[in-house]
Amino acid sequence: MTDCIFCKIAKGEIPSQKAYEDELVYAFHDIRPLRPTHILVIPKKHIASLAEAGTVDEAILGRMLAVSHKLAAENGSAEGFRAIINTGRIGGQEVPHLHLHILGGREPVGAMVS
Ligand code: AMP
Ligand code: ZN
Repeated sequence: MTDCIFCKIAKGEIPSQKAYEDELVYAFHDIRPLRPTHILVIPKKHIASLAEAGTVDEAILGRMLAVSHKLAAENGSAEGFRAIINTGRIGGQEVPHLHLHILGGREPVGAMVS
């Protein structure tokens, strides 16, 4: 997707505060952090949302989760974190490129839905 902001971030065409990168995923700090730790993990491949992901994407989806604890621990949330994937209009997704929010810090994140 040529006009996708997160595709551009993954390619380095738009600046971001990088937290991690491998051949499948890219992670960076959210520009408007909701908690002291707020990282987004995205696939390098454009997948619009979890609704568009399929079994062909299992390796990517697995990698997004597999790196989440290490990223949280390295960025101020060693005692736990919350992983969220907002999906579609009902899920409150604003950016149409799949992303996993990693939220944490030194205090509990709080109510799951408010
Ligand atoms: P969502 O509501 O799940 O689609 O979340 C989108 C997230 O992307 C929000 O938390 C935004 O703050 C974040 N965001 C949007 N643009 C950028 C950007 N250029 N760099 C970092 N985070 C961004
Ligand atoms: Zn994209």
